[in-house]
Amino acid sequence: MEKIDLAVIGSGIAGISAGIYAKRAGLSFKLFEKNVLGGQLLFVSDIENYIGLPPSKGIDLLRNLEKNLKDLKIAPFYKEIKNVQIKDKEIYLRSGDNLYVSNSLIIATGAAFKKIGLEDDDRFLGKGLSYCAVCDGFFFKGKTVAVLGGGNSACEEAIYLSQICKKVYLIHRRASLRAMDYLQKEIFKKSNIELIWNNRIKTIRGKDYLEELILENTENNEEKELPVKGLFVAIGTKPNTEIFKNIVDMDEKGFILTDEEMHTSVNSVYACGDCRRRALRQLITAAAEGAAAAISAYKYLRGHYISS
Ligand code: NAP
Repeated sequence: MEKIDLAVIGSGIAGISAGIYAKRAGLSFKLFEKNVLGGQLLFVSDIENYIGLPPSKGIDLLRNLEKNLKDLKIAPFYKEIKNVQIKDKEIYLRSGDNLYVSNSLIIATGAAFKKIGLEDDDRFLGKGLSYCAVCDGFFFKGKTVAVLGGGNSACEEAIYLSQICKKVYLIHRRASLRAMDYLQKEIFKKSNIELIWNNRIKTIRGKDYLEELILENTENNEEKELPVKGLFVAIGTKPNTEIFKNIVDMDEKGFILTDEEMHTSVNSVYACGDCRRRALRQLITAAAEGAAAAISAYKYLRGHYISS
């Protein structure tokens, strides 16, 4: 069985960056992806805080990353790794009947959208309920929709939808947003975005498609109906780290613990991007962490840091 220097799992911006640095360092590696290249970058509409880039679309940054990969002759390997085991310093990665063996591993599996946790969460998926304005916003052109959440993602979704939809309600469980200042300013400037503070969604109703939300005031428990055609949920993410839980140390939410050079609790295993516990969750930090993880893996494999 062919043994590689490094396996990178996940091809969001962190995994892509790790792959690029691994390639430039001359490591033999595979960049595993179970689905589509890009991770959460696929859901980003506008990027305004990536230094060196003028305000851009998420998809443009992804196209540039694809070109970086192509120029370096890195082909993502479309296999879902379902099981990882470490024996005698060798890392075994299983995907269906295929087994791969590697000397080191970078976990860059990112995070998935958190669900509201209502009984009908899944029933309305694709029938008015969405987790991605960039993907589904077009279907709600000229209609009234709601966004749930008060963070950067919810504000970005609301701003994006305000350009397509007649009206956007931004429903938040508290009375202040946690999003960055520039996003909050943008939200308050938009005449077709209305904030609904101190409310949570109690029920989603509709016959075949979503028709209305039942909101509950978090302060006085009063309920009210809100007729909308669409609901975009943006209440944070949970890490895609289930298969690594017996391998590396994690916090209580499943985020992988690392040091600042992306070492996990296991010598040959590194983590970067949204699957790792960190304070700042940005595209630019994920890209930097991918680079740091690849260079740490190089140091482990070759015994010294790459010369600059
Ligand atoms: P987030 O920052 O964790 O915000 C989640 C929001 O949803 C919070 O306002 C939270 O309310 C609310 N919430 C959580 N659980 C809820 C529930 N069960 N019901 C109703 N509301 C709920 O998540 P995010 O906005 O997805 O961002 C994730 C990370 O990515 C953050 O670190 C963020 O800074 C980063 N990010 C950055 C950018 C950017 O830089 N442009 C864009 C997107 C994301 P509370 O406020 O009351 O807790």
